[in-house]
Amino acid sequence: MKRHLADIVTHHLDRLWPDSKLSEAAARMAEMRISSMLVMEGGSLAGIVTERDIVRAMSAGMALDTPVARLMSTQVLTIGHDVELAAAFRFAVRHGIRHLVVLDEHGQPLGVVSESDFRFHLGIGFFAHLSDVASLMGQNWIQGTTDSPLSGVLEQMVETRSSCVIVTRQDAPVGLVTERDVVRLFGEGKQAALLGEVMSSPVHTIRSNAALTQAAAQMQILKIRHLIVVDEQDRLVGLLSEHDLIHPLEWMDEEFGRVATETQDRLRQLMNTIPDLVYFKDLDGHYLDCNEAFSHCIGVARDAVIGRTDSEFMSAGQAESHRLRDAEVIAAGKTLRSEGWVTQHDGQRILMEFSKSPVMDPGGACVGVVSVARDISERKLAEKQLRLAASVFQFAHDGIYITDGDAFILEINRAFEEITGYHRADVVGKKPDILASGKHPPEFFAEMWDTLRREGYWSGEVWNRRKDGELLAVLTTISAVHGEAGGVTHYVCVFTDITALKLNQRQVERLAYYDALTQLPNRSLFTDRFRIALAQAERSGELLAVGYLDLDDFKPVNDSHGHPVGDKLLQEVGQRIDRCLRSGDTASRIGGDEFALLVTGLRSMAEAEQAMARLLAALAEPYLIEGLSLSITASLGYTLFPYDDGDGDALLRHADQAMYAAKQGGRNRYVCFDPEHDRRTVEQKELLRQVENGLAAGEFQLYYQPKVDMRQGTVVGVEALIRWHHPELGLLLPHDFLPLTENLDIAVDIGNWVLKEALNQALAWRKAGLALPVSVNISPRHLQDVDFVPHLSALFEQHPELDAGCLELEILESTAFEDVALVSEVIRECAALGVTFALDDFGTGYSTLIYLRHLHARVLKVDQTFVRDMTHDMESFAIVESVIGLAAAFKRQLVAEGVETAEQGKMLLQLGCNVAQGFGIAEPMPAGQIAEWIERWRPDPLWRQV
Ligand code: C2E
Ligand code: CA
Ligand code: CA
Repeated sequence: MKRHLADIVTHHLDRLWPDSKLSEAAARMAEMRISSMLVMEGGSLAGIVTERDIVRAMSAGMALDTPVARLMSTQVLTIGHDVELAAAFRFAVRHGIRHLVVLDEHGQPLGVVSESDFRFHLGIGFFAHLSDVASLMGQNWIQGTTDSPLSGVLEQMVETRSSCVIVTRQDAPVGLVTERDVVRLFGEGKQAALLGEVMSSPVHTIRSNAALTQAAAQMQILKIRHLIVVDEQDRLVGLLSEHDLIHPLEWMDEEFGRVATETQDRLRQLMNTIPDLVYFKDLDGHYLDCNEAFSHCIGVARDAVIGRTDSEFMSAGQAESHRLRDAEVIAAGKTLRSEGWVTQHDGQRILMEFSKSPVMDPGGACVGVVSVARDISERKLAEKQLRLAASVFQFAHDGIYITDGDAFILEINRAFEEITGYHRADVVGKKPDILASGKHPPEFFAEMWDTLRREGYWSGEVWNRRKDGELLAVLTTISAVHGEAGGVTHYVCVFTDITALKLNQRQVERLAYYDALTQLPNRSLFTDRFRIALAQAERSGELLAVGYLDLDDFKPVNDSHGHPVGDKLLQEVGQRIDRCLRSGDTASRIGGDEFALLVTGLRSMAEAEQAMARLLAALAEPYLIEGLSLSITASLGYTLFPYDDGDGDALLRHADQAMYAAKQGGRNRYVCFDPEHDRRTVEQKELLRQVENGLAAGEFQLYYQPKVDMRQGTVVGVEALIRWHHPELGLLLPHDFLPLTENLDIAVDIGNWVLKEALNQALAWRKAGLALPVSVNISPRHLQDVDFVPHLSALFEQHPELDAGCLELEILESTAFEDVALVSEVIRECAALGVTFALDDFGTGYSTLIYLRHLHARVLKVDQTFVRDMTHDMESFAIVESVIGLAAAFKRQLVAEGVETAEQGKMLLQLGCNVAQGFGIAEPMPAGQIAEWIERWRPDPLWRQV
């Protein structure tokens, strides 16, 4: 659409006449803010008076009442109102004038078109191809100071054709006096004023590097014709006038149309190269123009776009929403941004950002809307990802820091602050070694960097230190970020706090290495220490004692007082052992009530012995636990390295064997391992294992040996004697295996089995009509068991048909007098059950009469050695004789054991002992043979003589 001068002319209805006064001209121009006035004479144009003319007049000192005819220019360039704009501009530029008088169709002046009008028309975009302000700004301004008189600068203005005076103070522009001001001042008769009094202030400035479009826009918005150009320090460097903006077009003047077209082409090219959609619509929504991106998007060629409306390209709904948005922009009179989904002609939906601006005509009226639409689908996606990444970064539980390529920290996240205690300000710009704990050698980090450089990635556990100095274990991964050029631009480090985990691990380690109950090292730590101790002993030449300690009778404590008490006792035992040892020594709980010991730095066997004695003495002291006073002893075996030159396992085994020997030796003692007895001990231990298995496998059997009354010729009872049908060794006698079990828990198990078996047998005989009392041998260990009496009474409860007189218990005289109090108590309790006692092997122990009085054993069994020897040994005879006397005195029954011959029986009868037992009467036999034997047995004829 071509525009004509008529469209842009400023109508000058006010006219001057040749005799109008200069003052009047100046006043009216200032009043109307116009730069020129026409002078008419007789209905036709006589001339034109411009601001510049008035400035010239002032400088020439003309009087205010001078008629305008004297200064007006009569050579007025007129032009028809229907001339096309480009042609008009070319005409004006060619004649080097700033005002064109536009005539109507009747040849009458319609108004004036000035440089400003052309600028407004061409619009800001017209200058887009020009460079910055500095390239166009003029240097010919007049500079004055605030106290320069106005009159002084006028002459200069005229001479240099300058359109204004810049008033400065110390080189900084503070005010401006323009031609227009001068005209106004002239009208007001203020020629004598100082610049400081009349200047307009503050000044409008623009930076020399600003875009020309900006300058043009500024002039347009502020309705000014000059901008003061300043540098970065706000120092005056030039002046940009409206004329300067127009000026560069002058040289293109020849072919302004061509230039304009070229400019247009360049603009179009520019528009088409940008991917954004650019399009113009008039107020009614008709497209005035669009770029290629736009026509591509809607799938309609540009030519077909122009003149159409949205409703022809898209759905009614979408067209309406565009219309509404355009209307908003028009109403607002300013650029508005919005976002919205657009459906392309190929059906693809894209999210667009619209920037819509109203297009203004020179009069400030809105004539349309220019829109720039940009596809932001990807940007939105990227933003979303960025936000996501940012939130991951910020809200991650893992600490994250990002460094530059030289490992200086650029950014950290919140978790970093929380985990390390460092704030962002503490670490940004520093290297990550601010976290270093000093727990890793330099090689550790050297290797880390090496891996990072080689593989771009490193992962591992690092001990760091928090800001408060506390150690911090982190599981770290570091990744190198490579730039486009290939070099490392950043490192990203993500770390997880695993301190708690590590501490936990230590606890686990503690659990793994220490006994939970006593806090003593456990077997696995003991093994470690053992290795070290062996190496040390080897180096130092000192002795190392390896001990094995087992509490005596711990089980009864547990049984009678409960496990909590038992546990406390074990803890106290652990502490006492620990206290007895020196710092280099180790005590370890390796089983229920078993402890292993390493006593180091010993110089002699005697010293080792002292250490062991001290230990046992400490353990034997009474324990006060939960108000109970408990006593317990221990059996301790030990071996001495390097006298005993085995490996760790062998040494410990030897100590164990020695402990076993201590148990057998009567407990509450220590035994040093004797390598010579090693082999036998091993065999014994093996046998013990077999005893245990054999008991479970039913390899044991009770034989019964009859007891007879030689005088009456009756069978008064049988003694149960254990036998073992060993799978390889055949029938074994008690002597072959019972001693092994002495003082061991297995003795109780055997004893209980014997009791049960014997009672069952007694019951069986009874049922078969045979009332045969059974004697059962009770081992010392069994008798001392706290459960002995309860167990026995339970057995009777199971067999109520058994009368109590059927069971007699035999205990060794030596055992009975070891702990008279205990034994007499057991005898008393058993008596309540109806069970009687016999003192076995009587005469071998050193029983005193006093004690015998307190032990309510009904029977004394004369030991068989005396019986065997009494026929030829006076001493033995005397003993048998005195035992018989004792029994009579204390009203105890008497049984003679080991009667092998009829003579022995006869002698016993002569001495007053009627009841006997021995091979001479019957050998022990299986239960099944007893009835038949009783049937067949007859007393020896020799005995009838007595
Ligand atoms: P003991 O209680 O003195 O038992 C008598 C032992 O003398 C038996 O040996 C028996 O076979 C043996 N004997 C009997 N008459 C004669 C004889 O005329 N001449 C010789 N030389 N020996 C004779 P046995 O069965 O080998 O038992 C040995 C010891 O083992 C028993 O001595 C007893 O103390 C113990 N014993 C046997 N059975 C058991 C048992 O079930 N429990 C416990 N705790 N000890 C038992
Ligand atoms: Ca016996
Ligand atoms: Ca005996």
